[in-house]
Amino acid sequence: MKKLLLFLFVATMQISTAQESLDLNYYLPQNITYDPSIPKPADVIGHEVGEWHVTHDKLMFYMQTLAKASDRITIENRGETYEGRPILLLTVTSPKNHANLEQIRQAHLALTDNNGNNASLENMPIVVYQGFSIHGNEPSGANAGLAYAYYLAAAQGPEIEALLDQEIILMDPSFNPDGLQRFAYWANTNKSKNLNPDGNEREYHEVWPGGRTNHYWFDMNRDWLPVQLPESRARIESFHKWMPNILTDHHEMGTNSSFFFQPGEPTRVHPLTPKINQELTAEIGSYHAKALDKIGSFYYSEENYDDYYYGKGSTYPDVQGSIGILFEQGSSRGHIQESDNGLLTFPFTIRNQFTTALSTIEAAKNMRTKILSYQRDFYKDTRANAAKSKTKAIVFGDAKDANKTWHLAEILNRQKIKFHELSKDATINGVAYKKGSSYVVPMDQKNNRLIQAMFEKRTTFTDSLFYDISGWTFPMAFNVDYSEMGSLSNAGQEITDFKPLTGGVDAMSNYAYLFEWNEYYTPKALNRILNKDIRAKVAKSPFTLEGRQYDYGTIMVPVQNQEMDPKALYAFLDEVAKESRINITSVGTGLTKGIDLGSNDFDLIKKQEVAILVGNGISSYDAGEIWHLFDQRYDMKITKIDTEYFTRADLSRYTAIIVPSTRGSLDKKIAEQIKDWVSSGGTVIGYKNAAEWFNKNELTKFTFKKDTLLAKNISFEQREKFFGAQETGGAIFQTRLDRSHPINFGYKNNTLPMFRDTNVYIEPSKDSYNNPIQYTNDPLLSGYVSEENLKLLKNSVPFQVNRMGRGRVIVFTDNTNFRAFWYGTNKLLMNAIFFGQSM
Ligand SMILES: [Zn+2]
Repeated sequence: MKKLLLFLFVATMQISTAQESLDLNYYLPQNITYDPSIPKPADVIGHEVGEWHVTHDKLMFYMQTLAKASDRITIENRGETYEGRPILLLTVTSPKNHANLEQIRQAHLALTDNNGNNASLENMPIVVYQGFSIHGNEPSGANAGLAYAYYLAAAQGPEIEALLDQEIILMDPSFNPDGLQRFAYWANTNKSKNLNPDGNEREYHEVWPGGRTNHYWFDMNRDWLPVQLPESRARIESFHKWMPNILTDHHEMGTNSSFFFQPGEPTRVHPLTPKINQELTAEIGSYHAKALDKIGSFYYSEENYDDYYYGKGSTYPDVQGSIGILFEQGSSRGHIQESDNGLLTFPFTIRNQFTTALSTIEAAKNMRTKILSYQRDFYKDTRANAAKSKTKAIVFGDAKDANKTWHLAEILNRQKIKFHELSKDATINGVAYKKGSSYVVPMDQKNNRLIQAMFEKRTTFTDSLFYDISGWTFPMAFNVDYSEMGSLSNAGQEITDFKPLTGGVDAMSNYAYLFEWNEYYTPKALNRILNKDIRAKVAKSPFTLEGRQYDYGTIMVPVQNQEMDPKALYAFLDEVAKESRINITSVGTGLTKGIDLGSNDFDLIKKQEVAILVGNGISSYDAGEIWHLFDQRYDMKITKIDTEYFTRADLSRYTAIIVPSTRGSLDKKIAEQIKDWVSSGGTVIGYKNAAEWFNKNELTKFTFKKDTLLAKNISFEQREKFFGAQETGGAIFQTRLDRSHPINFGYKNNTLPMFRDTNVYIEPSKDSYNNPIQYTNDPLLSGYVSEENLKLLKNSVPFQVNRMGRGRVIVFTDNTNFRAFWYGTNKLLMNAIFFGQSM
């Protein structure tokens, strides 16, 4: 019967009318019985699995229905996406285990603590976390989840019962609800009654930005370590709540590919991941191979994909005694597509995902005690090494920016890394740390390896290819000072109740208010002030007033001759300071040491109205990061103008326009329009490749440094490696700052680590005052860069500003807004916007 069904299925696929014969049995193991009281997906959502792309709301409705019907499943909502979708998690295990779930969880967590060393593993369930479609346009995983959850709820017999007795399955049906919804809409609205496998069909070519990313166009599968997005926060919380033994991450890749499962490239495993992790991964892989052989599906492993960046879902668990597994299925993208392997149907891709979800829990059952003891040993080893560590603690902080420092501590808090307050202000290794804006992280703790993964600098590698970034040293991303300490003498109380910071105005003034520009949220405060049409000025020189020093970029709000009376102004500023968690100081005199408050060295700051170019030809990641920065962090309005209608838009209302990194070439008419607008006073800010586009269209006249790399003694087979090694996938480089230049206002140090993931290099200007940010002579701080590129980078400049008519053209060759966690350089963009006029 099974063979006949399969035959019928394949036969009908060929005439492209898949849905007529599509049956749940195509996915399910057939030699077992299913509980008839459990509703099948089609009974609830109105279509068969694989017939349509499941929308997120239908997926959730089915999971909720299933949880009500089955005593094996409980369901919880862990939060909301930016678009308000629930972030659900199913816990699947035997009813007996459900009755003792909290006890089982505690015993499991104890395994990773000191008192777990003697625990008996004999009857301890293994914990498996299975997550689907973190990239929304890789939907076979989430769609397989329908059949998989049904199987877990409905399958009968001793085999499944034994399995559920020995496992706690945490099923995350949609890692990226907003992206899944966006893609389902696309694939379904373009579907024809007669399925069309022609690769040119619109169904297989999503419109910009596509469904891969979340609401703000972030790649959700890079955020497991920085945890900046709501979906990741829910996930990381569940991870630490359960410390799963295996975590799987179901993806899709190109249409002509078969199926990939980890282990990946053996030379591209992060050195902090133990060897045994990869051995266990390979042993689990043998279960996937067997299961895929059985249904005739092709696959590969140990190629293409790596296990390096801990911000990815399949690598993140590897530094925590768990085993992360990446699955990649060749994508039908829509419902059916021609491929090198014949017609690739959506149901076929779903079945492979379903099959490997099942082989994962089979491997977990058979390898249960082995994997549990691996986790126990991992923490035993980690603790032993941590106790021996010469470095006893890391202190980090920014004496002038408590908020940015707080946000780094927030990541530690989310990752369950313990930290203390600084006992008192102290100078450590020559750096001044202030209590309240510094934290101390002891190395002798359970998550020692995770701390290393976040804080270490690495500049030598066994391989020169990286699937993602090669450097992510967190204190550099945050541009905080940090030092290793040989003792815990500066550690104060452990912080167990981590609260947001507060702010306010110290007193009412009849003269003026001041705040320095260093705090992370000062742009948010300034924007609020300007939007109320209150006059504010920026100090272009430092000064001392009433015993306090004020640095470059201090903001001054005069009291007299404002729209508000002094009392209302005080109340308003207090509200702004509280919202932005900054401190504003009232002063009673304008006489200072240095520039007086009435000096012409205070520039009036204009109210800003900012637009950003988005759409075809623009990198959606880079654009999304900027949108998110304005909207979520600074509560600033930013108008997204699509490249499709940009030339029809009236630009006169905007003070600044941002052109994120470009992909390919933009319409020349866009450049012409920007040129006119800049000439009449606008500030245009271009990122990365946009700098070259500006140059080509004569908005700027920078000299770019180009490599003259020739492939010498490189064989045909080696060519990909050769060119791959020249890619700057993402690393951190040291720059030197001229702090008197407005682009650097708010930075207290003379150096600034910058993140770059391009090979765009600009020659410094001959006039040194035009090079306020310049790479040092030895700039590599963390990550991989080829020798050739490093040579080009040395002493080049990541920032330039040119005047054009009454306006400014500003370029950054680096990404100052990377993935929402590069807090350290966010202010550069804000400086370009608010102080562009002063440059
Ligand atoms: Zn993916």
